[in-house]
Amino acid sequence: MKFGVIICPQCKQVKGVALSSKTTRCIRCGKTLELKKLKIFYETDSQEKLSQAIGILNAEMS
Ligand SMILES: [Zn+2]
Repeated sequence: MKFGVIICPQCKQVKGVALSSKTTRCIRCGKTLELKKLKIFYETDSQEKLSQAIGILNAEMS
């Protein structure tokens, strides 16, 4: 399965998503996000690398 890292445009929450899904709900503000309208900051098929990428992006955002 392919995963991607997105950032919620409303609250800047960094979030990992399965790229096979069309939408995802932001865990912080609850907004429903359409994946095709979002920038995918990182793509991987490894869940481990996904967590690493989320950590790095979180550090960059703060
Ligand atoms: Zn949000």
